[in-house]
Amino acid sequence: MSETLHIVCPHCHTTNRVQKAQLASAPDCGKCKQALFTGHPVALDDEAAFERHVTRSQIPVLVDFWAPWCGPCRMMAPAYEQAAASLEPHVRVAKVDTEAAQALGARYNIRSIPTLALFVDGREVARQPGALTSPAQIAQWARAQLPR
Ligand code: ZN
Repeated sequence: MSETLHIVCPHCHTTNRVQKAQLASAPDCGKCKQALFTGHPVALDDEAAFERHVTRSQIPVLVDFWAPWCGPCRMMAPAYEQAAASLEPHVRVAKVDTEAAQALGARYNIRSIPTLALFVDGREVARQPGALTSPAQIAQWARAQLPR
């Protein structure tokens, strides 16, 4: 029996059903035909898009809450990019600009940036304030929080 997972498209935010076995073979979105996994963090500064990814995705969603004026955030950005490539397609990697999306920062009570948070089935399961500056560190932190 093959298992299907709901994967939200990073481009048009449509929920796709993907066979679990097909996850790693670069599935495309049924609606916009673009790749469901790009190897890059998805900017979810729009509250509706954020909500959709976090609540509909049946894979964990890792979020970097950051801001353009934050030095440590910019230092972490290249490592986060690389971590995205290694965590996909088992984790959706996203980022939220708390300057552009102040309501999200407030809603999740983000007190310092950068803050990493991991969401599973719509619930925040772990949070890491402060920059992790190596891709391996970021990927390890995320993997260690995943439900087994
Ligand atoms: Zn799409």
